[in-house]
Amino acid sequence: NRRFLLRRRPVGDPVPDDFALVEEAIPSPPPGGFVMRNQYCSLDPAQRGWMSDEPSYMPPIPLGDPVRATTVGEVVASDNADYPVGSWALGLNGIEEYSAVSPEHFTSPIDISLAPSPSHFLSAMGAVGLTAYFGMLEIAKPKAGETLCVSGAAGAVGSVVGQIGKICGCRVIGIAGGAEKCRRLIDDYGFDVAIDYRGKSQEQLRDEIAQAAPNGLDMVFENVGGDILEAEVFNLAKKARIVLCGLISEYNSTERHGLKNLWQVLVHQATIHGYLIMDYAPRFAEGGAQVAKWIAEGKMRIDEDVQEGIENSYDAFMRLFSGQNTGKLVLKLA
Ligand code: NDP
Repeated sequence: NRRFLLRRRPVGDPVPDDFALVEEAIPSPPPGGFVMRNQYCSLDPAQRGWMSDEPSYMPPIPLGDPVRATTVGEVVASDNADYPVGSWALGLNGIEEYSAVSPEHFTSPIDISLAPSPSHFLSAMGAVGLTAYFGMLEIAKPKAGETLCVSGAAGAVGSVVGQIGKICGCRVIGIAGGAEKCRRLIDDYGFDVAIDYRGKSQEQLRDEIAQAAPNGLDMVFENVGGDILEAEVFNLAKKARIVLCGLISEYNSTERHGLKNLWQVLVHQATIHGYLIMDYAPRFAEGGAQVAKWIAEGKMRIDEDVQEGIENSYDAFMRLFSGQNTGKLVLKLA
């Protein structure tokens, strides 16, 4: 059982020595639990937060434990009738080939015949689709004709957010890194405007957003923070709603950027709403069904960036921070 462990807490950018790949015996099922052979691990920006011991919504990954990750896999040994051998499960486990899962763990059975690949339970039918769905429909609450700006727009969550904006009849502006990602925003996801933030000052971004949204931004779906968020708040419409979903530009930073232009939030009588998808766990079935319906109807496209091999965990994870990932980043193990 190869396991990708957190050896020490990264300071700034994670480096390979923060982790260790070890080989251990395949575990036995805990009482009332089961062992799953992980086929896909989700690689998420949130894992960077879990590596630090700052106060957060979850305890930090204990040093010496595998890097916490949502995984999907097949049950290979079981002491639980709800998870028979040969069935499939999804759960918050770790980057490891086999996970021993206790009954009280956050886990659920899945029916892999419902998706073209089990990896879809980590993307469209998992946290990505659900984060976009509930963040948009429950917090941003789009109305037809409004203008939405989403950062990290070509990424897993951002691309779905923008597509939901279009389904709701909004004008959608996406901010992403590089010409190719901007092309995908328009051609693949149907955004109205794509802004490439790379190499631009905060003032330039502010001007480009102003040109794209002459009446201001009614909604901001924030995945990045930093200069992008600063530029957006100068372009808010009155009573704008800001969904604070992520701040990836800060995750590897040893300093917090904050929002220097908070005054603009007051001036525009805007609301900033800190958002965690787990709050909507009781309604995942509802959100998942709607996202699946949009995909089946051809109204939504989901891309996955599948990297292979547990030995490539570090390089694969770092794609999130260099912007190399094209769609939901997953690591295929088996
Ligand atoms: P993505 O697929 O969007 O991948 C991350 C992307 O972020 C990269 O491709 C890169 O795109 C961009 N990025 C990385 N570093 C920077 C930087 N310094 N400045 C600007 N952009 C950067 O990941 P996800 O869709 O999984 O996550 C997107 C955001 O959503 C994250 O902030 C994450 O923490 C948050 N999230 C929050 C949840 C919640 O419950 N609140 C749940 C799930 C995700 P580019 O090339 O465009 O720079």
